[in-house]
Amino acid sequence: MPELDIDRLRAETPGVEMVLHFNNAGSALPTRAVVEALKTHLDLEAMIGGYEAASAAAAKVADFYPAIADLIGAEPGEVAFIENATRAWDMAFYAIPFREGDRVITCRSEYVSNYVAFLQMRDRAGIEIDVVPDDEHGQIDVAALANMVAPKTRLIAITHVPTQGGLVNPAAAVGDVARRFGIPYLLDACQSVGQLDVNVREIGCTMLSATGRKYLRGPRGTGFLWVDRNAIADLEPPFVDLAAADWLDAESFEWKPDAKRFENWERYVAGQIALGVAARYAGNLGMAAIEARVKMLADILRGELEKIPGVSVHDLGVEKCGIVTFLKEGETPLATRQRLSKRSINVTHSQARSAQLDLPRRGFDALVRASVHYYNTEAEIEAFCRAVRDD
Ligand SMILES: *Cc1c(COP(=O)(O)O)cnc(C)c1O
Repeated sequence: MPELDIDRLRAETPGVEMVLHFNNAGSALPTRAVVEALKTHLDLEAMIGGYEAASAAAAKVADFYPAIADLIGAEPGEVAFIENATRAWDMAFYAIPFREGDRVITCRSEYVSNYVAFLQMRDRAGIEIDVVPDDEHGQIDVAALANMVAPKTRLIAITHVPTQGGLVNPAAAVGDVARRFGIPYLLDACQSVGQLDVNVREIGCTMLSATGRKYLRGPRGTGFLWVDRNAIADLEPPFVDLAAADWLDAESFEWKPDAKRFENWERYVAGQIALGVAARYAGNLGMAAIEARVKMLADILRGELEKIPGVSVHDLGVEKCGIVTFLKEGETPLATRQRLSKRSINVTHSQARSAQLDLPRRGFDALVRASVHYYNTEAEIEAFCRAVRDD
């Protein structure tokens, strides 16, 4: 595995001069190449016109598809550019023709927006939601999941890495169950793509959604959906437009045969180009090397935080990632976040209202969330822990 040259990677990350950024699970600092790609295209639009700029940059726009496909072990025709992870997930979820009594299996760490979509579909179409319990490590209990599969189970939809902690769910073991029973499997990989070495075939999912701005270090307002080529024809997206389908005559239209059917026409072209640049950047560094460094830094951070009197660390799971959650005695998570912010240290806090099946059961109202990326350093971890200690 090639070593990452951290000095060079930091030199290519202008933001590290300004802030100690441990909010990579919120929105990571982009590389200079990503920012340049955005600016270059916006300038071109201003100079020659938006449509003309898109034509002139057609090759860069098109490279988005193989760039994402290469990163996750997919084919370009299986990738759709969508403005964020939530809408990407929606385009898959709402494409499934649910009928009354159909069942969806999900997990305790499922993302808030996905879970409220289940509730909406329950109220609208009469589906049932089955929530898999956690095992003793706090991750999805895969044996319990297998036992939960029923004749009317239409979908398994889980989150790989939850927004509210360091847990990595056993996504590939879930994929084995999905394959065994022949059930579509929708994976929310919003926090894992760009952080972990995600390969859609190894995981065995059918659909996968992710965002641009988090661990991929792409621009805000970008995301993507991946759908297995064998599943595309069976999925009718909830919306259609001139990019997703062809209008044949007064009476008929035809869906695009590939993942383009999940897209819509008008888009953030600069963002699509720049997200492709971000994916290539991560792919060139190597996802295995990125994953190893992120996990190594997070382990150090957890260990150092645990040494601080009054600080407790709360990440679940056998496998843990770059998201580190903790509490400081006598200080609310919001107060910790605000106090650190005054020292130009970025963290956020995860709240129960975004994790109703998870945090309240564990007795938490909120947790401080510090999320590291490969461009962070051990010196930053030291400085961070001093600031948490407040000395
Ligand atoms: C942030 C996040 C999302 C939503 O991503 P958007 O790009 O904001 O729509 C979905 N799932 C998880 C696990 C997330 O952390």
